[in-house]
Amino acid sequence: MEQTFIMIKPDGVQRGLVGEIIGRFEKKGFYLKGLKLISVDRSFAEKHYADLSAKPFFNGLVEYIISGPVVAMIWEGKNVVTTGRKIIGATNPAESAPGTIRGDFAIDIGRNVIHGSDSVESARKEIALWFPECPVNWQSSLHPWIYE
Ligand code: GDP
Ligand code: MG
Repeated sequence: MEQTFIMIKPDGVQRGLVGEIIGRFEKKGFYLKGLKLISVDRSFAEKHYADLSAKPFFNGLVEYIISGPVVAMIWEGKNVVTTGRKIIGATNPAESAPGTIRGDFAIDIGRNVIHGSDSVESARKEIALWFPECPVNWQSSLHPWIYE
């Protein structure tokens, strides 16, 4: 089944939003397949955001991501990449709809609480980068209650 990489950024951890955010993905019906609290260094953060290295905000973005621990997760389910981005909301919290994570908990684009992969291909790359260890393989007993 499809997987996505979700990261609660340092502001989300510092602000005590970890449980709230995990709860939203859990209650939707997605399965948690990887989870760790981790501090990353500059070169790792630059690798994660390599596609944005030419952007004027790149250095600030890297400083932000290395400013404290983050919660790295793998979530699994049908269309989880696209639906995960909808749960997260628009990049700029000024434009994120209420009810989305960024819409409910963020104000500035440079403190937008959470990351989610933008495609199945980038999810695959990001999961490989953040979870080089073999992720735990388990199946939820809720499956027939969530999927037709
Ligand atoms: P995302 O996929 O919605 O996270 O957005 P992007 O991949 O385009 O950008 C990655 C992250 O860089 C965003 O989540 C923001 O934290 C940050 N970012 C994007 N655009 C800007 C910007 O114009 N200014 C600043 N300061 N940060 C930005
Ligand atoms: Mg992105």
